[in-house]
Amino acid sequence: MLNQEELKEIATLQADGSYFVSLYLNVSPGTKGDYVIHLKNMLKKFSEEEDRTIFKKIKNDIEKLEAFVTSNKREFKKGLAIITSSEKSFWKEYHLAVPVKNAIIADKTPYIQPLLDILDNYKQYAVLLVDKESARLFLVHLGEIEEYGEIHTQDVPGKHKRGGWFSLSGHRFERHIDYHVSLHIKDVIKKLESFLAAERIERIITGGSDDAVAKVREMLPRVVSEKIVGAFHAEMFANVNDVFEKVKPVISESENMAEKAIVSDLLTAAGKGQNAVIGIEDVLNALQEGRIMKLVLLKNFKDEGYECRNCRNLSKQKVSVCPYCKGGMEEVNYLVDLAAQRAVEQGSVIEVIAENKELSDAGGIGAFLRF
Ligand SMILES: [Zn+2]
Repeated sequence: MLNQEELKEIATLQADGSYFVSLYLNVSPGTKGDYVIHLKNMLKKFSEEEDRTIFKKIKNDIEKLEAFVTSNKREFKKGLAIITSSEKSFWKEYHLAVPVKNAIIADKTPYIQPLLDILDNYKQYAVLLVDKESARLFLVHLGEIEEYGEIHTQDVPGKHKRGGWFSLSGHRFERHIDYHVSLHIKDVIKKLESFLAAERIERIITGGSDDAVAKVREMLPRVVSEKIVGAFHAEMFANVNDVFEKVKPVISESENMAEKAIVSDLLTAAGKGQNAVIGIEDVLNALQEGRIMKLVLLKNFKDEGYECRNCRNLSKQKVSVCPYCKGGMEEVNYLVDLAAQRAVEQGSVIEVIAENKELSDAGGIGAFLRF
């Protein structure tokens, strides 16, 4: 699974003169069959244009990549990223639940910028399953779950050991348990905090025994407890997939709320004229002026319009010449896709909203502006 720590390691790989080939391929189900053709075209162009001495060094990698994609019988997800260096016997593949922009790059260092962008733009969730003596941590990201670690705190006397504590009065016995549970919870919190920091996680979901969860919430520093977005019920020994099934509705609820908040902020800001616009025409104007910081659009929003053949200015209105460069305009069917693509090129963040009536009523698209 794609994570920050691993990318850091890859980024620091020293190539000592040897080359890495980084391949990014959009393998979304909608592009099935096409991606093999795209890859072959990319590789062909690449082998024609790349410097001969470099190409000799990476010929092996190119062959391996082609064989992997064309002969692989498995179902791909949406995005495929592979970083390889035959010279260094290095091969790393990522099967991503989000599409990536096609690219192939040979360099003395791995090209990981697209992976970093994915990590930045898609939310990660830490899932904590905890009871009085153990805890499990999971990472949910890009439609996948991974168990990250377990914590067992020794010497937490359980109720079954009560007989062994006959020398303690009932009251002291309770205090003794509390003390050990507190030690355990402290340990859990320490591990949770370093997990959050290492993976730059902003959202937490908790589950397990009610007592332990309540204790964690009570003992967490406020900056951390504010990151809790929901709770679920599962047994401590539940398998990873069961945990994932329980957590999924909590995540969609949380994303729904987050999307609502974004749309509401957008509509308020646009209403007050504070660095935000709403509706396709204003969005396209802002895009042409390079002002879009974050583009917000409904998932299934589509529109058609016109594109300048010369400067690629996009327009909803039919105009015969481009108002910016006087170039000729031609009709385009995928106006919204073109706008999103240009926004990505300008370094804007794209926020896709699954469903939202307010945004739909307001025209399906809007943007927060840089200035
Ligand atoms: Zn133009």
